[in-house]
Amino acid sequence: MPDKVQRVKGVNDILPNEARQWQALERIIQDVMQRYAYGEIRPPIFEKTELFARGVGEDTDIVSKEMYSLTDMSKTSLTLRPELTAGVVRSYIQNNLQQISPVQKLWYEGPMFRQERPQKGRYRQFWQFGAEAIGSPHPEQDVEMIALFQAILDELGIAGSVTLKINSVGDSESRATYRSALQDYLRPHLNELSETSQIRFESNPLRILDSKDPRDKELVKDAPKIRECLNEASANHYEQVLKMLDIMDISYVQDDLLVRGLDYYTHTIFEFTSDALGAQDAICGGGRYNDLVHELGGKEVPAIGWASGIERLLLVVETISPLNASPELDLFLIVLGDDLRTQAPQLIRDWRIAGLSCDSDSLRRSMKAQMREANRQGAKFVAILGEDEFAMGVVQLKNFESGEQESVAFNQVVGTINDSI
Ligand code: AMP
Repeated sequence: MPDKVQRVKGVNDILPNEARQWQALERIIQDVMQRYAYGEIRPPIFEKTELFARGVGEDTDIVSKEMYSLTDMSKTSLTLRPELTAGVVRSYIQNNLQQISPVQKLWYEGPMFRQERPQKGRYRQFWQFGAEAIGSPHPEQDVEMIALFQAILDELGIAGSVTLKINSVGDSESRATYRSALQDYLRPHLNELSETSQIRFESNPLRILDSKDPRDKELVKDAPKIRECLNEASANHYEQVLKMLDIMDISYVQDDLLVRGLDYYTHTIFEFTSDALGAQDAICGGGRYNDLVHELGGKEVPAIGWASGIERLLLVVETISPLNASPELDLFLIVLGDDLRTQAPQLIRDWRIAGLSCDSDSLRRSMKAQMREANRQGAKFVAILGEDEFAMGVVQLKNFESGEQESVAFNQVVGTINDSI
């Protein structure tokens, strides 16, 4: 027998049983996004590599280690998107979206690609949905963003097992002040830091704060806090955000070590984590990125966004509050005798046109086997069609739940079923 081709390490097949859960989640996402007045955007799966190098930052793990890049026939370097903020901003600039409205509120969903070490909750192709609001510098927008994700958690019934962690990295002036304060604190201990952090000491010292290495963790415990280095405007912005969260009764934990891995953040940053997950406990991350639109060639337009991993969110949902996503089949048509099989497709098509979900056997099996199949699919009704029934233009319609069975004319089947469900 020829060898079987296996799927690539770290990617998943979403089979129909699971896909129903995805669809249930997607319906909630679409509904909440509509209520918050966000419009869907679908940028391409691949972009020029340059976009991510400039947009996400050369120094981040994503760009330095994890990108799936290829060179196409015209020798252009392309990359499968590892995240979508850069793509959305590129699209916003290229399509002049600011001319349509000064604040663009956008959402997306789709697969992302990162060459990370696979483990539970961490894959090489994974799905994110996310939201970006481009145009407003004000804290109200930060709060709406957070409330938007919170609303999805509420709809899913898992808000209770999720923690919102929040911090501010301030504007570029505040970050520069903090950067030197942190370097001054760490300099005497440079040799005690992990190798990665020693390299980051110059290039990106803030990232040392979220290092997982125990040596780094011990040292940063007593490091100066970024909050203490915020200039007046940044401190004021952050204070307003917290005040509005309090008014809205959205609970949060201030996390001084939260910096997030991407370069583009300014001011408010946040992460939602769940204790229902193991090591990979972040289900959503985001923040304000006031400089990115300009850095990617647009005007100076402030923005904020977040992204959430669907696989991880569904792991939490499964543990805490499973979605009702059982298959729904209204009717299974059982055909007795080969002569009638030519009639079945037309009957079943008419019922489907009328809105019922219907199926029938395509293996020409016995009545018993067809009945078993109807059962397996959880059909609410079966319609039995034999020679006598066909001659009279009826089926024997059996309600699987009540066990009742009656003779029903072909054109009454839909009405009878609709009346009883
Ligand atoms: P990030 O873009 O890294 O801030 O990630 C945002 C969210 O995407 C995280 O909170 C996770 O829920 C999810 N995520 C990130 N990387 C992965 C991955 N490799 N596999 C599965 N989910 C991921």
